[in-house]
Amino acid sequence: MARRKTAVHQRPETKRSRPNTPSDELWMEDALRCAQRALEAGEVPVGAVVVCQGRIVSRGWNRNITDSDPTAHAEIVALRQAGATVGNHRLGDCELFATIEPCSMCAGALVHARIKRLVYGADDPKAGAVHSVMQVLNHPQLNHKIEVQGGVLAGRSAELLQVFFRNRR
Ligand SMILES: [Zn+2]
Repeated sequence: MARRKTAVHQRPETKRSRPNTPSDELWMEDALRCAQRALEAGEVPVGAVVVCQGRIVSRGWNRNITDSDPTAHAEIVALRQAGATVGNHRLGDCELFATIEPCSMCAGALVHARIKRLVYGADDPKAGAVHSVMQVLNHPQLNHKIEVQGGVLAGRSAELLQVFFRNRR
């Protein structure tokens, strides 16, 4: 997610490829805990976990300020660690759960990782690169197709961001 001043809100037209499953919400709970860690560190509260064959192989949260790293979004941090844990730069058996719709950088990384499925919480109308601002995932000219499920625990994901931006004013 990009840094910005305005709050993210859930849009009712979020596309759902299939209904939320209880386990999606369970993994998203973990991603939300990661986002909370970012909030406590003064970072934009976005969290992500990578799940491979039913278990979490990595967790990430925004670390841009902490690491002085413009690329340290939650999804990138989680993908890097997942690759190291699994021992492969291709994560074709893995799903990534992110609290907010990924930006273009993170969506590009998901394609490079060959992630099987993306589950996210709230849409990001300012920078979302799944469908909100542009479509990097499942772009017609890219071969890799990713199953996408949006809107999982979206209200709570957006709420964390709202708390963050409210406190900064
Ligand atoms: Zn990002």
